[in-house]
Amino acid sequence: MTMNNNNTDVIVLGAGIVGVSAAYAVRQRGLSVVVVDRREPGSETSYGNAGILSSGSIFPLNQPSLLGKLPQYLTNRHAALRWSPAWALRNPGWIARFLASSAASQTRPRALALRGLINASMKLHRDWIERAGAGERIRETGWLKAWRSDNLAAAKADQDALTEYGIKSELLDRQAISALEPNILPVYSVGLLHTQTASVDSPGNVVKAYARMFAGSGGEVRPAEIKSIVPDGDGWRVLLSDGEVRARHVVVALGPWSSDLLRPLGYRVPLATERGYHREYKPNPSRKLLRPIHDAENAFLVTPTENGVRVTSGVELTDRDAPSNYAQIDAVEPLARGVVEFGEAVGETWRGARPTLPDSLPMIGHATRHRNLWLAFGNQHIGFTTGPATGEAIAAMIAGAPPPFDVAAFAPSRYI
Ligand SMILES: Cc1cc2nc3c(=O)[nH]c(=O)nc-3n(C[C@H](O)[C@H](O)[C@H](O)COP(=O)(O)OP(=O)(O)OC[C@H]3O[C@@H](n4cnc5c(N)ncnc54)[C@H](O)[C@@H]3O)c2cc1C
Repeated sequence: MTMNNNNTDVIVLGAGIVGVSAAYAVRQRGLSVVVVDRREPGSETSYGNAGILSSGSIFPLNQPSLLGKLPQYLTNRHAALRWSPAWALRNPGWIARFLASSAASQTRPRALALRGLINASMKLHRDWIERAGAGERIRETGWLKAWRSDNLAAAKADQDALTEYGIKSELLDRQAISALEPNILPVYSVGLLHTQTASVDSPGNVVKAYARMFAGSGGEVRPAEIKSIVPDGDGWRVLLSDGEVRARHVVVALGPWSSDLLRPLGYRVPLATERGYHREYKPNPSRKLLRPIHDAENAFLVTPTENGVRVTSGVELTDRDAPSNYAQIDAVEPLARGVVEFGEAVGETWRGARPTLPDSLPMIGHATRHRNLWLAFGNQHIGFTTGPATGEAIAAMIAGAPPPFDVAAFAPSRYI
């Protein structure tokens, strides 16, 4: 519909899972849409994640149990969390708000809000991935969280918490784990299988398939660097490296880069980056993994991908663009090799940044001081899961229709 048209109803900034989803959902409503990214769709955070479509990730990192773990984390040696003291000194406000959100009273409202977002998103993913012709990429084999120690109490506590919100899981002992994943080594004593969770073999390629589906429905994907956004009457001018686009609505879906573009408009968004790494390895074809496994005590994930085995690390709290520090991923590699046999590393170690607001809820809604400016970012550890419903909600709001889940908790006005 809009081939290289410089006037469009909606321009979406960023072609990660959130931006591509918003673009497709808006296009479904018959509006003209351009999505802009300096890279190919799905090449940044939405490329390097673990590809889990997690029905059960309704409890963010900052929950009451975090406070009990702080003494371990303060040593800065735990695989789950490394942090930069210099970053911490510059961001005491973000840390204080992040910790304040861990209070027990904050658990239920956030879990309910995230459950609504996740459920809506899981439905969309399962529908879109088929429509996009990428149905072979989704695996309905669940996600296994596993403990090496005989920590049945921890697994049971996780299960009880999920059950309270209607999320199904199965407790497994050592034999049941071996039956489920016959090719892993017998290192785990206890497991919790998230049965309603799915995963994909290449999150980046799923985003690319959604982008092709969007283009096939008449949308335009425009490769360009976004320089700035400027109010223009009721609409916007978006200045690009190779020109400009005028649009009535702008959707900011720039993941960990989202706050940069909003600063010149006077918005100081408290967006931090929980960085993470992955390394991918040649698979051993006779030792095939069937699903992602989360090593509970060592805070890493190992998942089968299109071309091999991907190991992802825990959280590194530091500046988005600080130099890489491979300590966390180096530390877990031998532990992952103790779970499943795989070959040498393929390609460079990847680094990405989970975009996180202090309450670990994304911003989904309109900016407070500008008309027709929509914010869709901050999807933290579960952005690949929650991208589609984040986009769908934005599309509904642009069209003046009710979103498919309760968006009140995600209102940008809580921070800006
Ligand atoms: C190690 C790790 C593991 C993870 N595992 C999972 C998982 O298993 N399941 C899950 O649900 N989530 C997971 N996540 C989280 C998930 O990857 C993110 O929340 C999600 O990808 C964020 O998507 P996004 O579209 O907001 O951002 P992005 O994918 O980063 O997209 C933003 C886009 O904006 C573009 N951009 C930025 N600035 C500009 C500019 N000035 N001009 C042009 N383009 C620009 C970028 O090129 C990029 O394509 C994981 C994250 C990490 C780091």
